[in-house]
Amino acid sequence: MREQSASLEEEPPDGGVPLSVAPAEAAPAAIADLSLPQTSPRPVRTPRRPSTSPGDAFRRRHFPGASRRDWNDWRWQMRNRLRSLGAVERVLQLTESEREAIRRHRGALPLGITPYYASLLDPLAADQPLRRAVMPSLCEFVVTPGEATDPLGEEHTSPVPGIVHRYPDRVLFLATSLCGVYCRYCTRARMVGDGGEHALRRSDLEAAIAYIEAHREVRDVLISGGDPLTLDDERLGWILARLRAIPHVEIIRIGTKLPAVLPQRITRGLVQTLRRFHPLWMSLHFTHPDELTPEVAAACARLADAGIPLGSQTVLLKGINDDVATLRALFHGLLRLRVRPYYLYQCDPIAGSAHFRTPVARGLELIRGLRGHTSGYALPTFVVDAPGGGGKIPLQPDPVVGRAGDELLLRNYEGRVYRYPDPVTPENRGEGGTCASA
Ligand SMILES: *Cc1c(COP(=O)(O)O)cnc(C)c1O
Ligand code: SF4
Repeated sequence: MREQSASLEEEPPDGGVPLSVAPAEAAPAAIADLSLPQTSPRPVRTPRRPSTSPGDAFRRRHFPGASRRDWNDWRWQMRNRLRSLGAVERVLQLTESEREAIRRHRGALPLGITPYYASLLDPLAADQPLRRAVMPSLCEFVVTPGEATDPLGEEHTSPVPGIVHRYPDRVLFLATSLCGVYCRYCTRARMVGDGGEHALRRSDLEAAIAYIEAHREVRDVLISGGDPLTLDDERLGWILARLRAIPHVEIIRIGTKLPAVLPQRITRGLVQTLRRFHPLWMSLHFTHPDELTPEVAAACARLADAGIPLGSQTVLLKGINDDVATLRALFHGLLRLRVRPYYLYQCDPIAGSAHFRTPVARGLELIRGLRGHTSGYALPTFVVDAPGGGGKIPLQPDPVVGRAGDELLLRNYEGRVYRYPDPVTPENRGEGGTCASA
């Protein structure tokens, strides 16, 4: 991909972003050093990166040759991801199922865990939620009825490589197949990490951008993958600049899990790049409250301080986050980081995912357990992505109990039934009455 870097077409207007690939990113600066315009006299209190972090002990033990500066360098983290049986075995005490699953694995959705995320894993307990989400198990090889490698039919709604155009006014732009960590329940398991983890070729990117240019109905482009933040600032900036130059593209969104699994990626340079392309929104993938570390808080603060509205996406996973207490802790924690819970996904029926999937009724029960008991902002929309390419279908517990004459009977969050006057006939609604023309 050197040729791509060499033919950048957009210079940053402020000249502030180094276009050459920077050597190791400087050790992350304290948040207060960011030269953001201050709109309020008192700066918003943002968490700093901790001066000593639990990652330190992990680093010294498992990466004795690495300095703290290495650890805080996202490229070092990417290069040193645990990608083999030997590498994870040095850090975790593996179960037979984990070991055998790694041995048997072929093709897409490889093993991949950043050292940072590995430092959050329980070395002994294979059933720890974070560990189950990223460590392969033999359950992945059990394919149950209704599962498919492309359950959402994305290949059928893909007019050119890298674009999924399912909704009238917005497209999904799959800009890379590379991720920081490979989630074992990934909806795009069929394509991520495939073929040696290459980014899309320059010609594919051009074709995808040309498609968006030619389709004036596309007002919203959601850049995903893979994880687009695995692209360096230069490449990402190039894609963003090309999209921003399209007059009918009103908003650009980035879907990423890196703030959760590689918070070191949210550098000052990245944020300076991103903020040039407003209105830019981000959807951050989070799975469990244990992911909300001080490093992650600092990363979210940087993004939020750059004026980027942050939403979250969470996949509902059996035994990982499928209880009210865990979800509440996650959603409350996210709101404190200025991340608005956006979607809670029913786990898609990708091949070998039955061990992660809860009944749809469970999701509704969890929403019922949260709604009204906490801030409305803490509640994401629970969605099923319809197999075959029907798009996301929101589900809600139905609060309508029935009717009693002209009254609608509604159940509130405490389970109590309330009557709301809602006449069905025009006369009773007062239509044609004296106030109708007011
Ligand atoms: C999820 C998704 C979008 C974005 O949907 P929103 O509900 O607008 O967040 C767009 N295209 C595809 C193919 C998607 O899967
Ligand atoms: S980060 Fe996203 S695309 Fe990558 S493996 Fe996880 S769910 Fe899939």
